[in-house]
Amino acid sequence: MKALLMGPPGAGKGTQAEMLIQHFGIPHISTGDMFRAAIKNGTELGLQAKAYMDAGQLVPDEVTIGIVRERLSQEDCKKGFLLDGFPRTAPQADALEKTLQDLDMQLDAVIDIQVSHDKLIDRLTGRRICRSCGSTYHVLFNPPAEEGKCKKCGGELYQRSDDSKETAENRLTVYNNQTAPLIEYYQAKGLFHKINGEQEMQEVFQDIVNILGRES
Ligand SMILES: [Zn+2]
Repeated sequence: MKALLMGPPGAGKGTQAEMLIQHFGIPHISTGDMFRAAIKNGTELGLQAKAYMDAGQLVPDEVTIGIVRERLSQEDCKKGFLLDGFPRTAPQADALEKTLQDLDMQLDAVIDIQVSHDKLIDRLTGRRICRSCGSTYHVLFNPPAEEGKCKKCGGELYQRSDDSKETAENRLTVYNNQTAPLIEYYQAKGLFHKINGEQEMQEVFQDIVNILGRES
């Protein structure tokens, strides 16, 4: 099973990724993990990536794809993998396809977890933090017993600026602008599957498993 998992911030992609790698027994290939490993192992590409990151610059595609290639060449990826966070753009998707061809592999499916804009905003802005003890709540998923008040210490709950509506809107705009061409790219290749991410976590999981089971 060689799949790419996509979804906007707030769609529950991380949770589904965890469940899928357990279920299929395949490695989770996320960009962040790959970069950290390459840097930690001191590979040539890892060092290049680190130099860009230390300078506060974006890591260029050729370095990123090189790191992806190193990772996908490893033994544990032979039976499959779940890509997460890469590719982000159509040129990266092209580079990935060439790399997979070189490695005599191909993607089986691209899964996109879709949640309506309003629901994503609700999820992304729902976190509340206690000013006194730092406990965290979520107005949808883990609400306090009394609105605005900490269950543990009675302290006042507040919203971090990272969780503001404006920040959430920006994150979603960036995501949508970046991934719209990617969706078209994979639709044209017949690999794209959308999943209703507004269902219960277990139902979302089952829908993904049904698709991946069919495509592999
Ligand atoms: Zn508290």
